[in-house]
Amino acid sequence: MPKQDFSKYEFDQKEADKLENQVQGREFSGVYCPNRNDHKACAVCRDVKVLWEAHNQTGLDKSKFRDKAKKYQATAAVFMNVVFPENPSEVKILQCGIKVAQSLVNGIKYMKWGSIYHPQKGFTMTINKSTKDGYNTYTPSPNVEKGKRELADLSVLERMYNLDKIEEIRQGADIFNVSSMEVNKSIDVDILPGWDSGNPHQFFKIVYYHFKVGPEAIKEGIPKEGALPTDDDEGPWGGENKKESPFDTDMPATKQEKPKEIKKLIYNRENAPQCFGTLFDEADDGCNAIECSQIREACKEELMKKKAAKKGGTAVQEEKKMDDIPW
Ligand SMILES: [Zn+2]
Repeated sequence: MPKQDFSKYEFDQKEADKLENQVQGREFSGVYCPNRNDHKACAVCRDVKVLWEAHNQTGLDKSKFRDKAKKYQATAAVFMNVVFPENPSEVKILQCGIKVAQSLVNGIKYMKWGSIYHPQKGFTMTINKSTKDGYNTYTPSPNVEKGKRELADLSVLERMYNLDKIEEIRQGADIFNVSSMEVNKSIDVDILPGWDSGNPHQFFKIVYYHFKVGPEAIKEGIPKEGALPTDDDEGPWGGENKKESPFDTDMPATKQEKPKEIKKLIYNRENAPQCFGTLFDEADDGCNAIECSQIREACKEELMKKKAAKKGGTAVQEEKKMDDIPW
């Protein structure tokens, strides 16, 4: 056997770059929504609006139009600068869904977590991934055992990413997406303050993306054969994309479709669910007998009723509309 040349297996920077190009950022399939982000024209949003209108006309709670609208409507992704305690000098970007951000803000505002992102008196946050009713859930909580902490390397404050430009830097940046965590695992993370020294409290950036469409859809609209879905149309309008969204629990399309188990949760002022604040009424049976997500719906309805009453419009109409409009 002739002597083999193994030198071809040596590390090669160019080849490594090629490999990296194949995998980097590939799991992220979101298309930036010009409407939700910049108030500019977006044909997907335009079509989604038509779908919601079509749904409203059915007078039904659920319809194919609604399913389709939820599937294609823009979804929020949240980005923040973080360091992982095991590598305290390296700034990374954490990506999560809106619910994680909501939990963080609730904790800061209502649960006395305070400025979790304070460089000297913040909290290391533990984010746990679990499954509930078959859906992934991410729960952040401050590491109280560790207590208030100072960042090990304060120079990270000089090296934060400008998340206002996340869309430009997303492909090349080192982003940790919480959806990549294993179930029943948790990570510890130190969230850094706002990157803009003018507003250190604005520690996250929300960007809206459309999924299940290509970039061309922003001009061309939702890909479709013919117009709107019909009963026997299972083509591009029918069926469900089983692919896991990078935002899992925050994708209303999948979450809403799951049959709901009605749980008897008893809440009171001291033990109020995190998802809402001012509208909770412990004397209201509706508040105690339904799931948190439904409570939010109920709160939205309350808000709409109040709004409608102010406008002198009919509460019933407004209520229905609000229930169906995703934003
Ligand atoms: Zn859009």
